[in-house]
Amino acid sequence: GSTIGILGGGQLGRMLAMAAAQLGYRCHIYAPQKDCVAAEVSASFTSAEWHDREALAAFAQGCEVITYEFENVPTEPLLALPADLLAPGPRALEVAQDRVREKRFVENLGGRPAPFAAVDHDSDLVPALERIGTPGILKTRRDGYDGKGQWTITGAADANGIRVPHTGAVYERKVAFECEFSVVMARGRDGAARFWDSTRNRHDDGILAHCELPPPAIVNAQVGAARDLAEKVATALGYVGVLTLEFFATEDGPVFNEMAPRVHNSGHWTIEGAVTSQFENHIRAICGLPLGDTGSVAHRMVMDNLIGPDALDIRRHCSDPTAHVHLYGKGEARAGRKMGHVTRVG
Ligand code: ATP
Ligand code: MG
Ligand code: MG
Repeated sequence: GSTIGILGGGQLGRMLAMAAAQLGYRCHIYAPQKDCVAAEVSASFTSAEWHDREALAAFAQGCEVITYEFENVPTEPLLALPADLLAPGPRALEVAQDRVREKRFVENLGGRPAPFAAVDHDSDLVPALERIGTPGILKTRRDGYDGKGQWTITGAADANGIRVPHTGAVYERKVAFECEFSVVMARGRDGAARFWDSTRNRHDDGILAHCELPPPAIVNAQVGAARDLAEKVATALGYVGVLTLEFFATEDGPVFNEMAPRVHNSGHWTIEGAVTSQFENHIRAICGLPLGDTGSVAHRMVMDNLIGPDALDIRRHCSDPTAHVHLYGKGEARAGRKMGHVTRVG
């Protein structure tokens, strides 16, 4: 069968490769690590730096299509590859890799992020606090995930001693939200979009911990506007594949948090909880196949992430016979590391 190239070697790549295998595709993983959990379930693996143009070109030669499981792949080496090989296109990465660019992009499409100011240098921080107000959060412009690279600022005094990274930061107002939700959508090569139900998402210490259906009424009231925005973003990017936008549900409507140009942790429940999972529909979309039904198979569903050292007790997770247990095969269970997840449907 055909070979799908996946850039990045984490659990998202692993679950994409498992869905691809079910559809009869082989996956070739490209990642800088020496070994990775995506490669363990894939046909082949290139371990090379993102900037190794020769290795990347050789990898691309063996692939019918190339996608990503990691949004911080440097785009510059990708631009040397045939553009029609990449799905989604690298512009989606460029926008999503830079929080300031991403917020401006979404604002231009009518979306509403939290009030924000770019903080390029240490001297920009105090003016940003004055303009945007406190409390707020300073975030690195690039490379942050799972709440890493963020500083809570409750007042001007907190700005003392903060060193802005050389790649810049963004200061944003803390949003008083009722709850968080995300829009996970798939867009096919024909431009048709499908949406999964939006779960209520809870984070602990900046890391997604729990998703559940049904969400509270405020999410149902705001999901229409949030989907419209997600579809505008996808259309503007000529997007192919699964795209995720995170939102805060507030008294005054949905506030855009950030986007991910890939399958997303808040969509893991779709493996058992929806007719077609986010992983399968991503593979279908990039391969030009018709998308599967995104409807939920039950009204109730909970997904819990397994995080940190306690996560590897598979006997305990399996003691609930209704639990769908997923472990990602990561050897070292560090605090705050996503090791797996458990989904309960119905
Ligand atoms: P991810 O792993 O989702 O990519 P990340 O490191 O990019 O995480 P964010 O999504 O920016 O981080 O923030 C993580 C969490 O911190 C949010 O889901 C939310 O709970 C909280 N948070 C972030 N920004 C704000 C804000 N402006 N107001 C209130 N809470 C916020
Ligand atoms: Mg993020
Ligand atoms: Mg986030």
